[in-house]
Amino acid sequence: MAIRLDGKAFADGLCEKLITEVEGLKAAHGLRPCIAVVLVGEDPASQVYVRNKVKRCEQLGIDSIEHRPADNITQAELMALIDELNGNDDVHGILVQLPLPEHLDEDQVINAIQPEKDVDGFNLLNVGRLSVGQKGLLPCTPLGSMMLLKDHLGDLSGLNAVVVGRSNIVGKPMAQLLLRENCTVTIAHSKTKNLADVCRSADILVAAVGRPRFVQGDWIKPGATVIDVGINRIEEDGKNRLVGDVDYDAAFEHAGAITPVPGGIGPMTIACLMYNTVAAAKAANKIE
Ligand code: NDP
Repeated sequence: MAIRLDGKAFADGLCEKLITEVEGLKAAHGLRPCIAVVLVGEDPASQVYVRNKVKRCEQLGIDSIEHRPADNITQAELMALIDELNGNDDVHGILVQLPLPEHLDEDQVINAIQPEKDVDGFNLLNVGRLSVGQKGLLPCTPLGSMMLLKDHLGDLSGLNAVVVGRSNIVGKPMAQLLLRENCTVTIAHSKTKNLADVCRSADILVAAVGRPRFVQGDWIKPGATVIDVGINRIEEDGKNRLVGDVDYDAAFEHAGAITPVPGGIGPMTIACLMYNTVAAAKAANKIE
């Protein structure tokens, strides 16, 4: 039987600390941390994500500015908007909600964001900083996963970590963070042979695959810590359900600790966006 790693409770605790910190920044420095959120078009899922992020900002006393250009915005117009936000000293973080409509060049937009305002941590400079071990803004999902791991395990040195998934936003940066914490890291993907055996070698198993209940209970080394990043919507027993990339009930019998879905990494991701925004505001104003 495993411990349930309660990401929601941890994220709530982190947000409580941020509320106090934001109040302190306003009182002592007249500084109002502010994030600009850019949502292009009407994608319903993106609208929900943006609404949740803006709501969290409000709860924490972080200012948010929403830009909602229509989906026929040109690349040049979007780049001009990013430029304007880069030059606005009252804006400390810029978040462009992905995916962008197909006619827009996502990489060009993300890389146009000033690295110090890149609160998603996707900009090439921040990716490079992470890989060479320099300080920079870290992508929110891996950062939140790492906070939970360290809170539960303490020192991760020497542990075998397996990350299933090699996306630029989750798998690769997660592997980099684990390496930075002195884990022995394996990155698995769709071409990996004997995936079950690879997973069985993991003291820490991170699943970022995008397939419902893909990781089986008997793939998990007894006592391992399992981080389930996956968010999959499925129809089951006539109900709409949210499930992870790990077969939670089966994994619970083998793991030492496991994050649930929902209530695990999802809330940590949003809390870390807030954390990055406050960090960016402090850095811009040279506040320790
Ligand atoms: P991607 O689709 O970008 O990447 C999925 C990865 O899984 C790829 O590297 C792919 O391998 C690998 N993969 C796919 N099938 C298999 C397989 N059969 N065996 C082994 N590996 C496989 O997804 P993301 O990284 O963006 O997201 C992963 C999951 O995390 C999704 O469920 C997503 O919704 C969720 N997510 C959750 C967040 C949160 O806040 N909790 C934030 C971001 C994502 P290959 O490279 O070879 O194709």
